[in-house]
Amino acid sequence: MAYNDQNRGGFQRQMFKGDWKCSKCGAAITELPFEPDPSRLDQLLCRDCHREKRMSRRDYR
Ligand SMILES: [Zn+2]
Repeated sequence: MAYNDQNRGGFQRQMFKGDWKCSKCGAAITELPFEPDPSRLDQLLCRDCHREKRMSRRDYR
């Protein structure tokens, strides 16, 4: 029996694990949905700050 359906049907988002820090609030970041650029490690944002940033961009006055 070679039923191996687990890798089929869709794209699973790969998470990159590591030990980083948010440049804004200082929270620990252990997972990212993309591979961080080593030269930009000091600009990483945690999920919350990332979302805030996106929201504040829309809320342009
Ligand atoms: Zn943060």
